[in-house]
Formats: sequence, C-alpha cells, structure tokens
Amino acid sequence: MKVDWLIVGAGFTGSVLAERIASQLGQKVLVVEQRHHIGGNAYDYYNEHGVLVHQYGPHIFHTNAKLIWDYLSQFTQWYSYYHHVLAVVDGNQIPLPFNLNSLYALFPPHYADKLVQQLLEQYGFNVKVPILKIRQEARGDDLTFLADYIYKKVFYNYTLKQWNFTPEELSPSVTARVPIYISRDDRYFQDQFQGLPKQGYTVLFQRLLSHPNIKILLNTSYQEIKTEIGYQNMIFTGAIDEFFEYQYGELPYRSLEFQSIYTHQNQIQPVGTINYPNEYHYTRTTEFKHLTGQQVYGSTYVEEYPQPYQPGKNIPYYPIPKTEYRELYKKYQQEADKLEGRVVFAGRLADYQYYNMDQAVARALSLFERIISKT
Ligand code: FAD
Ligand code: UDP
Repeated sequence: MKVDWLIVGAGFTGSVLAERIASQLGQKVLVVEQRHHIGGNAYDYYNEHGVLVHQYGPHIFHTNAKLIWDYLSQFTQWYSYYHHVLAVVDGNQIPLPFNLNSLYALFPPHYADKLVQQLLEQYGFNVKVPILKIRQEARGDDLTFLADYIYKKVFYNYTLKQWNFTPEELSPSVTARVPIYISRDDRYFQDQFQGLPKQGYTVLFQRLLSHPNIKILLNTSYQEIKTEIGYQNMIFTGAIDEFFEYQYGELPYRSLEFQSIYTHQNQIQPVGTINYPNEYHYTRTTEFKHLTGQQVYGSTYVEEYPQPYQPGKNIPYYPIPKTEYRELYKKYQQEADKLEGRVVFAGRLADYQYYNMDQAVARALSLFERIISKT
C-alpha cells in the first residue's frame, strides 16, 4: 500500500492534520491507530447503562482562540457548559480555583472579610496569582497564613498524589494551571469559548475523519506496519522516545487508572468534579451527566487513581513537566530534526508537552500552515 501521508495516532493532533491534508491538499492519508477507536484520550461512548462517558477521564473543551473554536465548529455543535469544581478541605466543599467564595466557605465572615481586604490591597480585583508566587510574596501574618494554608490543604497532597512530586519539584506551570483567583467567579476555566461537543467527542472525530481521502487502520500500531506501508511523508503523534526505541532512555510519563461507578441515582454530586486533595488514593471524582447535560435514568461517575507509567502495561497520559525530563526530551528532538521534515512529530506525546485539547488543535493547525508553505 502507498499513500501520500501516514499519520500515526487518531487523537486531536492526528485527526485535525488528516482532515486538513485530505480536504485542503487533496492528498491521500492513512491514519494508523493502535487502539480500537478514534479520538485518542478524548474518546467517549455510551456505557451499558446508556450514559455518555469519557473513557480516559473527563474532557472539557475550553479556549480563548476563536480560530480554534470556529474550526471545530465546522464539525460539531456545542453543549454550552461551564465546569465547576469543589475541593474537600477540612470537611468543607470549597470552590476551585481557590477564590473569594472559597475564603467564605472556610473561615468566619469577619476573618474572611479581613483576608479579602488584604488580597485586594496587594493584588487588586480579578487577578490570578499562582500559589507558588503568592507564597513567596505574601505580606503580613494573615496572608502568609492564608498562602501556607492553601498550599498545604489544596496543592501539596494533591500534587504528590497526582505526580509523585511536590509542587516545587515540578515546573511552576503545573500548579499555575489552577491559580488563586481574586474574584467571585467560581468557574474552573474563564476562557471565552467553553463547552462539550453536543453529540460527543467521538462523533466530532468521525466527522473530522470522514473525508474520502482518509483511510483509518484501527487496532494497529506503527511498529506493526512501518515496513509494509509506502508513504511520502509521516506525522507521528505517539511517544517520541518509543519512536526512537528509547535510545536515550525512557521519558517519564504519569499514568492513571479509572474506576467507573454507576448508580441508580439521578445525580451523585452537586457539580461536575470534586477534588480530594487530602483523602483517598484517587484525586477527583467526575459525574459525566453534569458535563454532557444528558437526560437519562441513573448516573455514572469516575474516580482517577494516579499510577506510575509502565510501558506496554498502561497508558502514558501525562508528560511530566520537569526541567531534567525536558532536557532528555531535547535529545530526542535532535534525533527528530535529523529526519529533516520527512517525519514530523506533534502532539502531547511527541512534543512531550502538557497540551490541553485546544493547544493540540492549535499545534496541528499551525503545523499544517507550515506544510502548505512548503508545497
Ligand atoms: P492523544 O489524544 O494521546 O492521541 C494520540 C493517539 O496516538 C492515541 O490514540 C494513541 O493510541 C495513538 N498512538 C500512540 N502511539 C502509537 C503508535 N505507536 N501506533 C499507533 N497509534 C499510536 N484537555 C482539555 O482541553 N480539557 C480537559 O478537560 C482535559 N482533560 C484531560 C483529562 C485527562 C485524564 C487527560 C489524560 C487529558 C486531558 N486533557 C484535557 C488533554 C487532552 O487529552 C489532550 O490535549 C489531547 O488528547 C491531545 O491530543 P493528541 O492527539 O496530542 O494525543
Ligand atoms: N492541583 C492541586 N490541587 C487541586 C487541583 C489541582 O494541587 O485541587 C494541581 C495539581 O498539581 C494538578 C495541577 O494543579 O496536577 C493541574 O490541575 P488540573 O486540574 O489542570 O489537572 P488536569 O485536569 O490536567 O489533570
């Protein structure tokens, strides 16, 4: 078999590139995917109880980039959804990101008032401050206490559980994803565009990949077919260290185990996700009906148990943002550069970057622009 493009991986990166190349360049694409389905980690399906669930953990789409939103809107309508998260701290359920409402959920009103006043004096209103920054900068006894309290009760144990590293051992960008928000806005994300594909992610992927120039080979890894398929160009969205047969050693990833639980209740928890920084072996529970807006009898939620990644045994969900691992990645990147564009690497695993879905789409679209500039 001979194709113009071989694309390895049918997640957002591979599927968007396949769609662009097939529809805009009119070239033939073969997408090879080792799982039994398209969609990568965003794959969803109806479970045996008829509940639409995300197999690889909750996925909420959010972006500030109109271009990305408009691009995907060609393939889906959206169910408008604003994600809300509560964290259990000292027996209270407090809103995350930690904001002014969280203060009132934790402390007596007069003390919360005092803390709010000091936060406003130091930072102003509607400002986001990462926990590691606020800890360094906090002035006075009250804000120092508050910064330490949030650090210990919200971030420290959750981060240890999720990554097996403390917040300081990781890139500060990790905990900065959930900054302290000096505001009354309880939404987990403040992006301009937020929602879930109305008929689910998998339908969105089916439409992305429906072009007649695209063929899909499921249940097949690149390693199985690499000598059998002829191609002009390749895009690889799998793990870059695996591609180069681990010649510099394994890049560390973090994995997860998902425990899915169905109940006959109509609703299990008050919001989409509840985080448990300090209790249990799981980090959070997510009830899918909140996210999808589905009206159905019963409900399913999922618990997420962080795990060490073991190649061949579980899935490398998260690259670990840490300086020394970035250095190791750069060695693989140099190998990739030697292939001089004949093989292009992109995506969460191939770039070893903690991309959200919109960033994966943005990466794919900008890579496509580079491809057309060369043709
Ligand atoms: P992937 O989705 O990982 O796709 C890569 C594909 O390549 C996979 O299907 C894999 O099977 C295939 N593959 C790999 N190697 C090979 C090989 N050798 N041969 C054949 N096929 C191969 N983002 C958000 O924006 N919002 C969220 O709420 C959100 N929640 C998340 C929750 C969890 C638990 C996780 C893990 C991620 C979450 N993300 C979220 C991130 C989102 O999943 C990624 O941004 C997105 O999946 C990246 O797409 P990708 O195509 O780069 O990678
Ligand atoms: N985090 C935390 N406590 C929380 C929520 C998040 O310590 O209650 C930290 C933790 O290190 C986590 C990171 O912030 O990995 C990013 O959180 P996010 O919810 O963005 O994680 P993701 O959805 O990507 O797993």
